[in-house]
Amino acid sequence: VNGLLPNETRSTCCYCGVGCGVLIQTDGEQVVGVRGDPDHPANFGRLCTKGSTLHLTASPTLQSQARALHPEMRLARGDARERQSWDTTLDYLTHKFAATIRQHGPDSVAFYLSGQLLTEDYYVFNKLAKGLIGTNNVDTNSRLCMSSAVSGYKQTLGADAPPACYEDIDQAQVIFIVGSNTAYAHPIIYRRIEDARKNNPDLKIIVADPRRTDTAREADLFLPILPGTDVALFNGMLHICLWEDLIDPAFIDAHTEGYAELKATVRDYTPKFVAQTCSINESDLVQAARWFGSSPASLSMYCQGLNQSSSGTAKNAALINLHLATHQIGKPGAGPFSLTGQPNAMGGREVGGLATMLSAHRDLDNPTHRAEIAALWGVDEIPAKPGKSAVEMFEAVRAGEIKLLWIVCTNPAQSMPEQTLIREALSKAELVIVQEAYRTTATCDYADVLLPATTWSEKEGTVTNSERRITRVLPAVAKPAEARHDWEIAIDFARRLEVLMGKTKTLFSYTGTESIWNEHRESTRDRDLDITGLSYAILEKQGPQQWPFPQGASVGKARLYEDGIFPTASGKARFVNTVFKPVADRVDARFPFHLTTGRLRDQWHGMSRTGTVAQLFSHASEPGLVMSQIDADRRMLKQGDLVHVTSKHGSQILPLLIGDDMRAGQTFIGMHWGEEYVSGRGHEGEGTHGVNALMSPAFDPSSKQPELKHAAIKVLKA
Ligand code: SF4
Repeated sequence: VNGLLPNETRSTCCYCGVGCGVLIQTDGEQVVGVRGDPDHPANFGRLCTKGSTLHLTASPTLQSQARALHPEMRLARGDARERQSWDTTLDYLTHKFAATIRQHGPDSVAFYLSGQLLTEDYYVFNKLAKGLIGTNNVDTNSRLCMSSAVSGYKQTLGADAPPACYEDIDQAQVIFIVGSNTAYAHPIIYRRIEDARKNNPDLKIIVADPRRTDTAREADLFLPILPGTDVALFNGMLHICLWEDLIDPAFIDAHTEGYAELKATVRDYTPKFVAQTCSINESDLVQAARWFGSSPASLSMYCQGLNQSSSGTAKNAALINLHLATHQIGKPGAGPFSLTGQPNAMGGREVGGLATMLSAHRDLDNPTHRAEIAALWGVDEIPAKPGKSAVEMFEAVRAGEIKLLWIVCTNPAQSMPEQTLIREALSKAELVIVQEAYRTTATCDYADVLLPATTWSEKEGTVTNSERRITRVLPAVAKPAEARHDWEIAIDFARRLEVLMGKTKTLFSYTGTESIWNEHRESTRDRDLDITGLSYAILEKQGPQQWPFPQGASVGKARLYEDGIFPTASGKARFVNTVFKPVADRVDARFPFHLTTGRLRDQWHGMSRTGTVAQLFSHASEPGLVMSQIDADRRMLKQGDLVHVTSKHGSQILPLLIGDDMRAGQTFIGMHWGEEYVSGRGHEGEGTHGVNALMSPAFDPSSKQPELKHAAIKVLKA
């Protein structure tokens, strides 16, 4: 294979949805190095600081100190967990599940999964919950990441399918980045944007963000909008496009519906009103609309600033409205393009790994879709009752409605909002099972049963990145100690449970990841994400491929909707009548500052992996509250002062950082640090649990995605 050395194995970076290809180098037993895969179309050999240090997270020292290597169990809260065999542990779990389901029904158990699982892992857990147990209580941390993008795509375009691709970056004439610090969160995409700019000096970059991030500093036009005002911004841009004849009436007539209602709504979004609402210059707003609407190809790229919001679906839909009205979709260099946060949130969505979805983008509330999946799986029915989404799931655990909670490859005791709720729920659950590679996460403290799982460089299967590209992931080293693959654990448990349930035929007769993937592939037949023309062999021989890739195709589709036909009942895209609503936590005299949160350049999520690499702390060694010089002067605060940061939901003590990226009235905290940092600095009792403990549990009514991107706070010197 082109460019592959004898000690190298093809895989992907496990950190973000760019989905960069990596070549893992081993000495036969240990991972000793990593380099970017020159043949992978997501990165062509490039890696960012996180990706290029992946091998350091697999060091023998770390393996012995931080890895979960053996099953552990305790029978009573307060006891220490003790090492057990897999047989004892899984037999205990199956008896507990069978008894609980018998006594309280299938909805008394729940699974909380992760966008870091491989597609095959997701598929098996989804089938275990919805097919065998008969509950839709299976949700994932993708709920915190991409569910508003899913709702936005489905409401407007008819399917959860990002229509653009990375090649569109090279062909765009305007790139509109909104709610994304791409330079930090998706660095290899940002490198491609920089290349596009070098190759095309006429390329215009517009960035809308409350902070002057590194991404915003390089923009031709920066719109420093107030947090949560995105819908007003997009409606205002559409208003201007209408006035200036920048819409495409022929495309609207032929390929969309619902325009009249939206047109009536955006009439009220005058430049003056929008400029005031967003707190930006009216002339900049007009300039942004003119560039976007008049360009031959406008591409928008967006991430958690849109998704993690109590109006997340409306924000996504309002931006897509703008693309539809100006016909900036379905052509090279144009389209709405959601940047996936987690490495395989896309794969999880493909197999329906959320409480409200079914395999292959089917809808749980559609009886035909439920019957199709029941037939594929060979079960009588799929339950119609929607499962609990992330926040609802933990509320139901705290209320005693859900008794057994199985958490896989995620750390809700740091990542979820309203940590009081989460920790009460974890304490009140009858049984908490944590399936993890690392025994050091905050959630492991609550585990009654700890199941050791494999992780990056050990696993095999497939992942899908932001541009719908599926990559085959191969294991470079053996499983450590007694750790097992996530899908293996699920199948072993499922087969034991089937015996207790009196089933004579197993639903889980898989021989490996390929047989799981082949079943998933069959579920996609004639769906928008049809991959019936693909196989493991093709992925290995021809490299990563984009979906759809139906039977008979020789290549996948780079770009969707070029024919103007959308996967809706009428074949037309739908305008959603989007109305601006303010953030859930309003600033007032008691909580006068806006707080936003986000990724830093060199860290990932809750740092369970990146926090083990010393050199990744050179960019930011500790967390802090970033504030403008004006606000610091007004409060007589200086750089490094410890401050109490208090919202309606929690309080923390952090060092003050003065940043020229902040406007007066705005503050920011990097999202990565949890309680280890705070307890390490001796602030036990206040400031624990990480920044999300400050955030509101309010969530979008359609996507159920929490508003992790904003809270109103007060700041006092500690
Ligand atoms: Fe990994 Fe994302 Fe960096 Fe690529 S851009 S190397 S996928 S963290």
